Amino acid sequence: MADIDALTSSAYSQALEVIASVEPRIAEATRQELADQRGSLKLIASENYASPAVLLTMGTWFSDKYAEGTVGHRFYAGCQNVDTVEALAAEHARELFGAEYAYVQPHSGIDANLVAFWSILAHRVEGPWLEKAGKKNVNDLTDDDWEALRRELGNQRLLGMSLDTGGHLTHGFRPNISGKMFHQQQYGTDPETGLLDYDALAAKAREFKPLVLVAGYSAYPRRVNFAKMREIADEVGATLMVDMAHFAGLVAGKVFTGDEDPIPHAHVVTTTTHKSLRGPRGGMVLATEEYAPSVDRGCPMVLGGPLSHVMAAKAVAFAEARQPAFRTYAQQVADNAQSLAAGLQSRGTNLVTDGTDNHIVLLDVSSYGLTGRQAESALLEAGIVTNRNSVPADANGAWYTSGIRVGTPALTTRGFGHDEFDNVAELIVQVLQNTEAGTTKAGTPSKASFVLAEGVADKVKDASAEMLDKHPLYPGLDLA
Ligand code: PLP
Repeated sequence: MADIDALTSSAYSQALEVIASVEPRIAEATRQELADQRGSLKLIASENYASPAVLLTMGTWFSDKYAEGTVGHRFYAGCQNVDTVEALAAEHARELFGAEYAYVQPHSGIDANLVAFWSILAHRVEGPWLEKAGKKNVNDLTDDDWEALRRELGNQRLLGMSLDTGGHLTHGFRPNISGKMFHQQQYGTDPETGLLDYDALAAKAREFKPLVLVAGYSAYPRRVNFAKMREIADEVGATLMVDMAHFAGLVAGKVFTGDEDPIPHAHVVTTTTHKSLRGPRGGMVLATEEYAPSVDRGCPMVLGGPLSHVMAAKAVAFAEARQPAFRTYAQQVADNAQSLAAGLQSRGTNLVTDGTDNHIVLLDVSSYGLTGRQAESALLEAGIVTNRNSVPADANGAWYTSGIRVGTPALTTRGFGHDEFDNVAELIVQVLQNTEAGTTKAGTPSKASFVLAEGVADKVKDASAEMLDKHPLYPGLDLA
């Protein structure tokens, strides 16, 4: 990451003084967050560090502007500058991903998925239904018509990857709205290898005949063949929706190309903008021309006013991702995941799918006699920030889990390379080897409490500090 110059540094200092003059505790928490992020090994696979340009773009008066509608077609006056911002963000997105259409209004990944679901329902179900009924739009419907259409919309099928094999809760998980608004079924991975089994998936799709086939993941450490996914979708007449929230940076950086690039194969692609893509917190939907008109109705279908300041920051982040340096970064993210996985395996750690070929490494910590919850807490005590995660058919359930998910996007942004990630693997293993499962107050085995051997946390923190000091976060940023 480029050095922050004195001017930018003083801009941040002054901003914090302004904030402190109103609510000093928020200014203090903001300073502390920087100190914490600077001082720990951030291995959360869904996090990154956005550039100062992206962060600064979010802190402006665009936050104050309402702009429901679309570019040039707003329900509020005075949106000419928001139009500039939204049009630019969409143009950068189309160019970056080679997409026919980009919708940059969703506030988050979940919003982007909701926009996508309703766009698919509007395109595939509502449109044809209205045409058959000879009506122009839903406002022309009688109450009886409306009842019938609602039944039709609420009677559709979705097939997505199960949460415990790496899917996201918006891919049809029952407690999520996606698992309630659709009749859902889930596909998983091969119990032996942990890898996607496309033949089993195709058989399930033939039997279930979903309207929507969702591909994409939050915790699957492998690449997906989207050409195969499209073949399956076409065979059963499904719309292929790919949620690339996690790996959008690897698509933008041309690490995933051909069959592994979702854009040429999917009808609709959703993403977050803040994970491997390294932009502001937010979401986006990319689509083919065919689906564009229904996605464009994200507001008022699902969304209200867009976050104009965040759309501006998306434009800045996409402009950054179009620079050649981003391709180098994305390749390094994937290379570093290989180094981390090899380092963990050579020190005796079991990995789901026996490795990785994206940015995620999923450790099965049960061989250390620990739950994911115990391992996550012990690692945090040693300054290593991860999250616990289910492994396929997890004996400890979704709360305690048996896995730890780690990822390379954030520390790669700081400049970590092969040697550092090998060292990170060593530190993780030191913590896991020196942690024991604890007991409850009543003396029975606990899935949460743990005992980390004395001195290990300090030793690991010292070793981390050496690497972190060599690769400072926001170098030059001095909050006087
Ligand atoms: N989709 C996937 C695959 C994700 O991993 C996530 C976030 O973890 C989301 C969607 C939701 O993103 P957000 O937290 O921005 O709503």
